[in-house]
Amino acid sequence: MVLQTYPSTQLLIANEWVDAASGKRLDVRNPATGEVIGTVAHADVIDLDRALAAAQAGFEAWRDSSVYDRAAVMRRAAALLRERADGIARLLTQEQGKPLAEARAEVNAGAEIIEWFADEGRRVYGRIVPGRNLAAQQLVIKEPVGPVAAFTPWNFPVNQIVRKIGAALATGCSFLCKAPEETPASPAALLRCFVDAGAPAGVVGLVFGDPAQISEYLISHPVIRKVTFTGSTPVGKQLAALAGRHMKRVTMELGGHAPVIVAEDADVQLAVKAAGAAKFRNAGQVCISPTRFLVHSSLVQEFSRTFAQYAQALKLGDGLAEGTTLGPLANPRRVAAMSRIVEDARRRGAEVLTGGSQIGEAGNFFAPTIIGNLTTEADLFNDEPFGPIAGIRAFDRLDEAITEANRLPYGLAAYAFTRSFKNVQQLSRQVEAGMLWVNQAATPSAELPFGGIKDSGYGTEGGPEALEAYLNTKAVSVVGI
Ligand code: NAD
Repeated sequence: MVLQTYPSTQLLIANEWVDAASGKRLDVRNPATGEVIGTVAHADVIDLDRALAAAQAGFEAWRDSSVYDRAAVMRRAAALLRERADGIARLLTQEQGKPLAEARAEVNAGAEIIEWFADEGRRVYGRIVPGRNLAAQQLVIKEPVGPVAAFTPWNFPVNQIVRKIGAALATGCSFLCKAPEETPASPAALLRCFVDAGAPAGVVGLVFGDPAQISEYLISHPVIRKVTFTGSTPVGKQLAALAGRHMKRVTMELGGHAPVIVAEDADVQLAVKAAGAAKFRNAGQVCISPTRFLVHSSLVQEFSRTFAQYAQALKLGDGLAEGTTLGPLANPRRVAAMSRIVEDARRRGAEVLTGGSQIGEAGNFFAPTIIGNLTTEADLFNDEPFGPIAGIRAFDRLDEAITEANRLPYGLAAYAFTRSFKNVQQLSRQVEAGMLWVNQAATPSAELPFGGIKDSGYGTEGGPEALEAYLNTKAVSVVGI
């Protein structure tokens, strides 16, 4: 196992890496061992004011550069990210825990997403609207909304930033990010690619500190014109309310509790393979992770047995160790949450088919867990688990399964397995979700919308709609004299 020295992370303000004015720092731990591996600078208001001034100056320079120049900087940043992918992936695994192969895939996917946004930014067009007065020319112009404050979580430290920075920079906005304090080094390495690629000072900025203090300050601040957040629904609601008070544009990518409908005519082996891979990716700490398995009663035994075998074949371990397919959870809060979910299910008479407990003394390891025979009252069928736990319930009629899928306030991802076009039509129309994946694991590519409805948030972080969220629309009507 090649260990890479884990760096202490600084703030990025006006293209300079600096400590907080107070010198304050927070510890960073490796979730596989629980040991402190480094520190991260903790910004206060004095640092935030400097970062905001830089974001304003960066915006003015970036807005007035050509889309071609912007795309060139972004493409160079993507190339640097690819070149540095292996080192960045090792940082990511050390601070977040996921298997190295997943970390590498995250970084490489990040490079691809940045390239897609760079190119899409060149296709942001306005339009000409025929005038009622023949002497008038009426233009519709798209303009960058302004400096963006982004708040990103620890589950995909690189890619949660990439979708936001891609859309912001492609449209001419500057980007000030509060990245996760628990996983700071890989976000810093990502932003370094933009600095090294030639982004003018202040176009990208990075701070860490007390999340509530920073979000309150940045969202209220007049320099910030747009807020984008990925994280839990309760925090998203607070931040959206604050943004509303200050009339700021908002994109919210929040929690989910993805149903997986395995219909009577499904291919069970495919369902286990595809949904199993999706379930245990990043130890289930994924907003689109499949969580509520609704399986036709004629298939539920076969499905449960095969799914349990799939889970038992996973190799739990340090993400840097060869062969690991399931890493530790990112922090001890998640281990405690998994134990509570299992305890609640057991109390309600559900059957733990495999797993169900923490593994080892050091690090945040939890066995991949599958629970059958769940009632809809169980916590697992109501609260987002955000961990390596799947629950199974049987159904008899497809509309019953759809009603159960739609019962919760979440509406992010949903999955279905069926051979029938008629079922697909019904599912597409009736399942309340921002994304529906049929007969496959999720493949959230940059060109597809990525976002939720209901309590899962609003706005999307993929496809042309993702850029629209960073643009103002201006009408200009000119009468020649
Ligand atoms: P949490 O709700 O405390 O935090 C979630 C994220 O929001 C973290 O990154 C945190 O730093 C940030 N945050 C918290 N309060 C904030 C504030 N006032 N202002 C700005 N940012 C703030 O929970 P947690 O224990 O870190 O994570 C667990 C829960 O978070 C999970 O159950 C899951 O629902 C959610 N989560 C979702 C995603 C996602 O991809 N949608 C990612 C990470 C966490």
